[in-house]
Amino acid sequence: MAKLLKIKQGKYVRNILKSIFFVLIAILCCTSFKKPHTNVFDIVVIDAGHGGHDPGCNGGSSNEKNVTLAIALKLGKMIEDSLKGVKVIYTRTTDKFIELSERSNIANKNSADLFISIHCNANDNKAATGTETYLMGLHKSESNLLVAKRENSAILLEEDYEKNKNYEGFDPNSPAGHIIMSLVQNAYREQSIKFAGYVENEFVKKTGLKSRGVKDAGFLVLWKTAMPGVLVETGFLTNASDRKVIGSDSGQVLVATAIFKAVKKYKGK
Ligand SMILES: [Zn+2]
Repeated sequence: MAKLLKIKQGKYVRNILKSIFFVLIAILCCTSFKKPHTNVFDIVVIDAGHGGHDPGCNGGSSNEKNVTLAIALKLGKMIEDSLKGVKVIYTRTTDKFIELSERSNIANKNSADLFISIHCNANDNKAATGTETYLMGLHKSESNLLVAKRENSAILLEEDYEKNKNYEGFDPNSPAGHIIMSLVQNAYREQSIKFAGYVENEFVKKTGLKSRGVKDAGFLVLWKTAMPGVLVETGFLTNASDRKVIGSDSGQVLVATAIFKAVKKYKGK
């Protein structure tokens, strides 16, 4: 009887040890694929807005998708050339359609330290001018909501967006949907505000464009990003003088330089 009990106990202990072993292996597997959480700033995701069959807004002969890609590539090169140890990951480097949820997935999968989504603004009022840098939050004015609605309407060009679980049934036509989304707690708000402030300051210094300031609104592309992130409206394609800057190669260099300086400053802090 005692012998039987001993065998049973031995088997029990072996099973426990086996379970602990498998749990440890599982933990090791999970952690080895993730970048460890450190204070090192070494991965930036640059997201050129729109692309492919989504041209974004337009003005003159400029399409938003081309302007955002040109600025994104220039900015990425500046970071790669001048910020040692910082890796740049692009959501697109060609004229390609990328779903909004996939853009934030790319940033999350790579454990990025900063997410920068680059866009151009548009308004029926052709006099509207200047830059805006947005972070995820509840819009304080109807015009901020309109910007988010316009940018979020790219979702309508996605195949079966209603079935995409990442969007949790979000309706791009519903103002209430925008409010609910933008009320999600953002753990990276303070860092995002800091970076957005740097971007707007540098825009004034480098581009001569008027700063309309740092603003809040509910953007699908920022909704699920698990790091500090902003959406930059680099200027109005519908305004002739803004378009001269953001629609030209030399102006895009100035815009990219301004965002680069902001990244450098943010990294330093
Ligand atoms: Zn856009």
